[in-house]
Amino acid sequence: MNREDIRYIGLLFREIAGRERKIAVCTFLLAILEAANPYIMILCTGVLVDGVYRKESMESLLFYTACALGLKLLFRVACSRMGEWFNQKLDYTRQLDEEQLNRQSLSMDYEYLEDTHVQELRTRALARSYYGIRGWLLLQVREFLKGIFSMLTALVIVFPMLAGGAQMGGGGMFSLLASLLLLLVIGVLVWGNYRAGIYYTRKSVEILDGLDGIHNKSAYYLDLLSGVESQKDLRIHAQQRMIRQDVDALFEASRKGEWRIGQMYIRRQLIGVTFPGLSGLCIYLFAGIKAFLGQISIGNVVSYTASIIQLARSASRFAGCVGRMKSVADYSRDYMQYRNLEKRKRQGTIPVEKRRDGRFQIDFEHVSFRYPGTEEYVISDLTLSFEIGEKMAIVGPNGSGKTTFIKLLCRLYDVTEGCIKLNGIDIRKYDYQEYCALFAVVFQDFCIFAFPLGENIAAAGVVEEAAAEDALVRAGLGERLAKLPQGLATYVGRQFSDGGVSFSGGEKQKMAIARAIYKDAPFVIMDEPTAALDPLAECDVYAGFDRMVGKKTALYISHRLASCRFCEDILVFDKGRVVQRGSHEELAAQQGLYRRLWNAQAQYYQQP
Ligand code: ADP
Repeated sequence: MNREDIRYIGLLFREIAGRERKIAVCTFLLAILEAANPYIMILCTGVLVDGVYRKESMESLLFYTACALGLKLLFRVACSRMGEWFNQKLDYTRQLDEEQLNRQSLSMDYEYLEDTHVQELRTRALARSYYGIRGWLLLQVREFLKGIFSMLTALVIVFPMLAGGAQMGGGGMFSLLASLLLLLVIGVLVWGNYRAGIYYTRKSVEILDGLDGIHNKSAYYLDLLSGVESQKDLRIHAQQRMIRQDVDALFEASRKGEWRIGQMYIRRQLIGVTFPGLSGLCIYLFAGIKAFLGQISIGNVVSYTASIIQLARSASRFAGCVGRMKSVADYSRDYMQYRNLEKRKRQGTIPVEKRRDGRFQIDFEHVSFRYPGTEEYVISDLTLSFEIGEKMAIVGPNGSGKTTFIKLLCRLYDVTEGCIKLNGIDIRKYDYQEYCALFAVVFQDFCIFAFPLGENIAAAGVVEEAAAEDALVRAGLGERLAKLPQGLATYVGRQFSDGGVSFSGGEKQKMAIARAIYKDAPFVIMDEPTAALDPLAECDVYAGFDRMVGKKTALYISHRLASCRFCEDILVFDKGRVVQRGSHEELAAQQGLYRRLWNAQAQYYQQP
């Protein structure tokens, strides 16, 4: 463990203690109680043996026994009560981890969500242990402190015996040397045990880390196979066999990894039993000789030997814990890094102007963009303007940058070069939330949630029912809504309610359109909004488009060029650039990409 590791452990522990002071105190107290617990019987047995040896009265012996049992009981009860409370808190810490990670996912820059490294940080931070990273940390801190307290207690108990020779004369010199030799031997054994503990724990943790990828993939399959969505494709493409083989291979790799960890554990246990045993043997010999020479009592022999054995055991457990601390540090680092990802996106402060004339002008000025972590520009030197009230279509081959253009406009990403302006001001200077409120977008890969229909349309818990119903009617779902007994309260899907309805892909697409209408934002953007609709529904959307968007600015991406004809302004994208712009008639009259695309599609619609 290096300083960086200790820093991350300290940071996370301070955060836990700051939020839940009681749990930090409990970890500390529990470590002391658990460390002290074995020594009660060790010391009491020594006193009792001495009592018997000195032929003390039955009453005194009974009194010692009662005290020993009473103390033991007290410690046991205290340990178990506190342990229960501690374990309950561990359940809570796992939830706290999830809550914090989800909170971060919801607020982080969008670009991080597509960053594999960032997503791995999240998976690792969550996957480490049943109790989550905080629970894992608390457990190890408790073990760590317990190990230190236990070893210190053992040393305090045996110190008089080891130092005993110093107070005696000539024979004392011999005794002192013997003590030092014993200390050396026991020190070597304890150290060896400690190193072995660290070595095997590290190895196990390394193997476990190597299994992370396998566990991730297994979790993916578990998720995939428990849902209905994937099953159609799997069955139709007969992929069951492929997946079964993959799952079997994962299982086998996981089993091998677990077996290797088991081997490490067995070797560790072997050393863990042998070294304390050897320490016990040495101390028995030493204490036995001392007792024979009359320098210590028989009771002391019992307490000293048992304490040294306990010391060796504690050192072994402590070593395991130190080995695991490295992984605690690694996962604390992942967790803290994920939680503290710096915001790259400028938040901006300028409020978006609420213009009385409702006019907004957007200017792209020499905008170039490449996705974070990639070298290739997907938008190159783009310069264009448009105003509120215009209906603009964006067409072009796959991968030409149409969706990226929309993402830049909505500030899901910030431009790499150049700038986008709203009414003459760089959009990065506007308050982000206010700026976002200007756009209602139906993404190609829109998401409708397993919430009630009304909440989906309002994108909020509070639903303005009349507006939501109106939006659904305008999006073409009026008849469907009328037939739903629970109306807007109907759950989408059956995940959370038996009364939920499994809507079709086309119906969900209409919901996404209705959500955009409900938002009533100045800009309406639709990225392939009719892909899942039947021809009649598609026709309805085009015919009703003006009604849907009114006087708002509408940006419309579609592969079906015929459906873009109603837009007076058409942008033709190719390789991240706008290569043509104009009305359908103008573009169709020019030799160029638009005409080629148009002709390619038109031939399928010609009469035979
Ligand atoms: P279109 O909408 O015109 O089909 P896109 O704007 O979606 O095209 O994509 C433009 C290019 O950007 C494509 O080459 C695509 O592979 C790439 N791209 C899209 N999203 C990402 C991303 N998150 N990371 C890296 N490259 C991306």
